[in-house]
Parts: sequence; C-alpha cells; structure tokens
Amino acid sequence: MASLAIHGGAGTIPRSAFTPQSYQAARDGLRDALRAGWAVLNDGGLAVDAVEAAVVVLEDHPSFNAGHGAVLNAAGDHELDAAIMDGRTLAAGAIAAARATRNPIRVARRVMETGDCVLLTASGADLFAREQGLEMVDQSYFTTTLRRQHWQRADEERAGLLNRPRSEAEKHGTVGAVACDDDGNLAAATSTGGYTYKRVGRVGDAPIFGAGTYAANGTVAVSCTGQGEFFIRRGTAHDIAARIRYRSDTLGDAVAVAMAELTSDGCGAGLIAIDATGAMELLHNTEGMYRGTVAADGTLSVGIYRDDFAVVERL
Ligand code: ASP
Repeated sequence: MASLAIHGGAGTIPRSAFTPQSYQAARDGLRDALRAGWAVLNDGGLAVDAVEAAVVVLEDHPSFNAGHGAVLNAAGDHELDAAIMDGRTLAAGAIAAARATRNPIRVARRVMETGDCVLLTASGADLFAREQGLEMVDQSYFTTTLRRQHWQRADEERAGLLNRPRSEAEKHGTVGAVACDDDGNLAAATSTGGYTYKRVGRVGDAPIFGAGTYAANGTVAVSCTGQGEFFIRRGTAHDIAARIRYRSDTLGDAVAVAMAELTSDGCGAGLIAIDATGAMELLHNTEGMYRGTVAADGTLSVGIYRDDFAVVERL
C-alpha cells in the first residue's frame, strides 16, 4: 500500500511571527508537494520518483529552506545540499555546497543515475548539472527578502549587536520526503540550504547517506532535519535502519530511540520515516515541524505545530 510523508524542516517560524497569509502559504506548499508526490504513487509509479516530485515543489516554494528561499552562508551566498536514495538497490546520489542549479534534488537524482559516484561537491556539482542540461540559475534566484533579513541578524549577532535571540526559523530548515510505493519499494530525498551564516564550504547531514538521508527496502526510508553535525556524528538515519534490521525493532521504537538521543545531545531535531508496510512516523522535539502525509487511503494531512496537524483533503 502506497504512502508518502514530507517535511519542510524543524526550523519553524514561531506562531506569533506568522501572518494568516504566510501560515496558509506554508500549509499550501506542503499540500502541493504531497499532491505532486501522490500523483506519482497513485499512478503506480516508483517511490523514488514520488520523493523527487515532492521535493521539487518544496524547493520551488519560498517558505522552506531549500532551493528558492534557501538561507545564506557567512559570505552571503547560497550553498545547497541534496540527496536521494532508492531503497530497491541502495542506489544513491547527492550534491553538497552547490551554487547554481535551480533544483538540487534533480542533480542528486542524476548523480544517482549516472552511478559512477555518490556525492559531488561545489563547482563539480554545478559543472555536472550543466553537463546534464539541468536548469541553471543565478544566486539571486534563491534569495528572498526574509532570508536576507535572517542573514543580517546573524551578522549583527556575530558583532554582538543583537538584543533579541534569533529564532529557529531564522537559523535553519530543510525539506524532505519518504515514500513507499505499491510494490513496497522505499525511497528518501532531502534538500537544504543548511544553516544561516554557516561556514563557507560547510556540509550538513542531508547529503551524507546514513546521517540525514537513508532508504533500504525491507527496513525503512528516513529524512532528517536539525543541526546536521549531530546527525552525522550519530549516523542517525542508518542507525534507525540498523535497529529495525538487526534487532527487529518496530519503526516506532527505532525512531523514538533516535529522537531521544538527539534530544539528549541538545539538538533541535525532526525526522520522518516510513517502513515497508507504509507505516509512517513524523517526530520533532522542536516547537514545530512543517510536515504532511498522504495515507494509503489517499487522506492528505498537513501540520506545523503539535496541535494543528489536520486532514486537508482526500485525494
Ligand atoms: N540538517 C540541516 C543542516 O544541518 C539543517 C536543518 O535541517 O535544519 O544542514
């Protein structure tokens, strides 16, 4: 039975900072991504195509920290990370610190398909994307007024000039999707701008397989959000898979342990996971996490905080 889960990051805007319009825009973005992913699954398509389709929509949406709307690094530039993994074969492709491709997840997909490497970085990723004929954009395409303000505040904080602490939303975010198709195939995709004011060249967990992204048929597909260094150190996504594979942990138990460890690290974290039965888990220890699901019966739900996760429509 097919099902799909997505996230738009655990760096959510505090409730008080949302306008009714921006709140609805974020929810609509989640809904549109779910519709795109579900269209693939409902057509009998592959999990890996569904997660790519969902992530492209989230990358194009300015509410989320990936693609258009990505955060700026310390130099005031965008460096984008993305990864995709097909649980059927453990085929995987990722890019890190790329600067010029409109949809980083599409480049990751091409890396996966080419099959002669798993991870391409920086100018190598952009060169590859260009060779592949993917749409290239100027850095300004990724920048929004809000992200410029976030960078400004981070710069003021560095200079000791900030009188109010920065919110999670000002610092980070990510988008991701996990899917199970009708044949029980699993896939995961993750894409991010990383952290506001991150060091130039810093790579997060999203493109590190086993850290922020992982998928293996028969066990689980996982996509994570939160400060990547913690996920890399713990190998979080693979750890969840290993608990299921070697200890026969339930999906719920495996993700609960992973979240408890991240919480004990002091990491504001979120993750989504799906198993071969199509069961889904969406967890966060932060105030909110942009997230949504389409259950096997086509029920589409989205939420941002703990109390607003609700059915939107039946597909
Ligand atoms: N995991 C991302 C990174 O560290 C950030 C996030 O998800 O909030 O690059």
